[in-house]
Amino acid sequence: MVAPTSPLAPSPVLAAARRIVVKVGSSLVTNEGRGIDAEAIGTWCRQLAALAREGREVVMVSSGAIAEGMKRLGWATRPTELHELQAAAAVGQMGLAQMYETLLREQGLASAQVLLTHADLADRERYLNARSTLLTLLGLKVIPVINENDTVVTDEIKFGDNDTLGALVANLIEADLLVILTDQPGLYEADPRKVPDAAFVHEAAAGTPELERMAGGAGSAIGRGGMLTKVLAAKRAAGSGASTVIAWGREPDALLRLVRGERIGTLLVAQTAKLAARKQWMADHLQLRGAVVVDEGAAAKLREEGKSLLPIGVVEVQGEFARGDVIAIKAPDGRDIARGLANYASSEARRIARQPSARIAELLGYMNEAELIHRDNLVRV
Ligand code: GLU
Repeated sequence: MVAPTSPLAPSPVLAAARRIVVKVGSSLVTNEGRGIDAEAIGTWCRQLAALAREGREVVMVSSGAIAEGMKRLGWATRPTELHELQAAAAVGQMGLAQMYETLLREQGLASAQVLLTHADLADRERYLNARSTLLTLLGLKVIPVINENDTVVTDEIKFGDNDTLGALVANLIEADLLVILTDQPGLYEADPRKVPDAAFVHEAAAGTPELERMAGGAGSAIGRGGMLTKVLAAKRAAGSGASTVIAWGREPDALLRLVRGERIGTLLVAQTAKLAARKQWMADHLQLRGAVVVDEGAAAKLREEGKSLLPIGVVEVQGEFARGDVIAIKAPDGRDIARGLANYASSEARRIARQPSARIAELLGYMNEAELIHRDNLVRV
């Protein structure tokens, strides 16, 4: 099962990773469906704790709910009916969350359960909500343990076993690295079961079409959690500048060795830097829903210091926009200086404009964030 030793030098991409999403598949988490593998989860939790102590931020995306649910329900074979699979996931998720909670607590770490769907991350407002919750958890040094909300959707049950979810989470929190731990050593140029001497791919550019052919090829069914969904997940993660590692999950200390730059498994390197990817994404939003005009002081801060935009600097709100829409920021002379994701809808922005952030809760009855546009969600034009 062990991947061939890489002839390449340690990777700076790996060593530089500060914010890391680790995705573990069902077969690893449940020891091929035999029930939650406390030992395996324990080894990852120990590594997560060591990474956290080094100041790295880690998010766990874990499958295994269905496999564990089947065991708890006494089902020997995986049902084909989706609603039965969803019921099994609901049963198994209890055990999964409990296991992570216990084992992370043993390491002195608090954990949080986050259940997400692809649709949550496609909706602008929910995207922002999920993002701020996760970033808040990371700021609090809590380890988020994420799974798909299988009760309401079936995307990852049908394909992927959370590979895509892992990539979406990497996009959401702008991770540096997505580590997909699996029961395979990584990607081979051809299916090693059919071509025994197929060459191992140590490193490649994420998103290269050739990789999809190697992983199963166009036209082949996207298996649940097969190599193809992993290669596609790497392509998606690369969209926000995250590189991906696909590695064997039982490799001892895989996570710790990876962040030392050691090459384990296949590294698919993102071709665009994180900031450039985000800027591109904002720049691609040609349809701006509205704009805010800011005073000279705020304009100068945005131009020169790359600060967030606070409501107090806003003198006028133009157009109608929702939380999560991309809007323009204009200087007093009307020139566009930046664009960014609004934390408040236009109706709310009108009420909090020219006001200190400390008054947001009093003016609106609640508070999302202190900034109208956070500097991480803002690009100068
Ligand atoms: N989210 C599901 C789980 O955790 C996907 C895995 C599967 O389809 O078996 O169980």
